[in-house]
Amino acid sequence: MSKLYREPAQDIPVFDECDILVVGGGAAGHSAAIAAARAGAKDIILMERYGYMGGDATGGYVIMVPDLSWYNMSFVRGLQEEWFTRLSKIPGAVRGPGLDKIGSEDPVLLDAWKALHDCVSRNAPHRLVRSVYFEPNQLKIEMDKMLLEHRDAIKVLCHSWGTKPIMEGNEVKGVIFESKEGRKAIYAKVVIDATGDGDLFSQTGTPYSSLADANTRSSTTALVWRIGGVNWDLFEEWKRTRPQAAAELRNQLTNLAGFRCMPLPSNQNDVCWVNNWHPNRDCTSIKDLTETEMNTRDTLRDVLDYLRESVPMAFREAFLFDIAPQLGARCSRRLKGEYIMTANDWAFASHFDDVIAWHSTICQINDCGPVEIPYRAILPQKVENLLCPGRHLSADDVAIDWLNLIPQCVGTGQAAGVAAAVAVGDGTKVRDVDINKVQNILIDQDVPLPRNERVDPAYMQCVEEHEYGLYTELAKKARAESLKDYRQW
Ligand SMILES: Cc1cc2nc3c(=O)[nH]c(=O)nc-3n(C[C@H](O)[C@H](O)[C@H](O)COP(=O)(O)OP(=O)(O)OC[C@H]3O[C@@H](n4cnc5c(N)ncnc54)[C@H](O)[C@@H]3O)c2cc1C
Repeated sequence: MSKLYREPAQDIPVFDECDILVVGGGAAGHSAAIAAARAGAKDIILMERYGYMGGDATGGYVIMVPDLSWYNMSFVRGLQEEWFTRLSKIPGAVRGPGLDKIGSEDPVLLDAWKALHDCVSRNAPHRLVRSVYFEPNQLKIEMDKMLLEHRDAIKVLCHSWGTKPIMEGNEVKGVIFESKEGRKAIYAKVVIDATGDGDLFSQTGTPYSSLADANTRSSTTALVWRIGGVNWDLFEEWKRTRPQAAAELRNQLTNLAGFRCMPLPSNQNDVCWVNNWHPNRDCTSIKDLTETEMNTRDTLRDVLDYLRESVPMAFREAFLFDIAPQLGARCSRRLKGEYIMTANDWAFASHFDDVIAWHSTICQINDCGPVEIPYRAILPQKVENLLCPGRHLSADDVAIDWLNLIPQCVGTGQAAGVAAAVAVGDGTKVRDVDINKVQNILIDQDVPLPRNERVDPAYMQCVEEHEYGLYTELAKKARAESLKDYRQW
């Protein structure tokens, strides 16, 4: 047994009390706080360990969201689309096909957008997809502005690290946190764990799993950095016309860095971001986090030099623009909630009465078509007064790769905020919340949901007309034969 230190018991000052405490201000937590305020909650605290909101999306420089639309309909709306409506007023802050162009098969438009990954559908018929690239610092500013618009309802605590849930039996009653002011407590009627790593739910006794399958994208960490002085269009042209050289470049970059890394486009043609994948890393391990930080910085000059030498037409003037202020965490602890999403939910187009988001995703088995996410995927087992939206939601090792993207974190966060507001307003537990009321408020907040007469019927027509993509035939066969697992095909 390793050496232990017994911490003396101590009284902790109660810093505050509130109706809804959101811990973590990333895509999920920020959305939860905003949605709760707009659903009528008046007493919300949003706690964030760093000095800004957005998590991976701003501090981690994860600067693109893919597949917000399917054919001609934008399925992912709500707060996610609001980010871009707002940012589109800032010159140069966003780039991607506009909502009025999605689904277009016009060859001129397809040609114009093909250099930007995921802006054209991967499968035929090729069509424009709502995928958006954004400037992370502008998003940081905009996320603050959204919170300031609700300053009467939301109190923001930056540089405050939630460390421990306050439990009474199986009920969460608040959170202990650390800051420069020391260790303090906040009591809350509902706690939303939006830390991405289940920092809180993992201490409540609710079931959860840890690392994702080592073969999935989720078991890798990253430290993103950006290159300036690039000509991205020329780089795309170079890759397209020299496929062998491009494959060699990919291998060489991996060899030089010691882990896979890849330049990707951004919101402007002269800047790219370098995504990277350090394999088999746990972003709750101090050792893995430290090595990800130091190994990326140790090798990035070599990667940049190689790009300059190998593709001078695009990288001759390239320079290190900046390094993301925080490490990119994809996955670690994951909730085993009241429902665990699996690939079957895409393959067989599962219908859920408690659907809270109906999202087109990056999943190829249903041609990136919409999938339903149930409320139970953010609702923990056995524990009360707690919701867990964002990248640690309840999904198996395969499904998590399609669900922990920014849109799904925003969408589940928005739903968690609304559900918490409804529960507090009605005086019920989040487990017993009136789900119809939650769905109606989400629809009012511009979230399209399936089989709902208040939603534009064009959504149901779209999925029916396109037979929910590839999976319909599989689903029909499976249902006919009462088979359960899509992998049998
Ligand atoms: C390198 C990389 C590339 C990716 N590529 C894409 C992509 O191209 N497109 C896409 O859509 N998605 C992509 N993703 C996934 C996506 O960025 C994340 O899954 C998503 O942003 C997570 O949002 P979140 O709010 O759940 O978690 P996070 O963004 O991790 O937010 C959690 C927040 O909680 C705070 N926090 C954590 N612990 C505590 C604590 N104990 N107390 C207080 N605050 C705390 C953090 O500081 C952070 O602000 C990528 C991820 C990475 C890392």
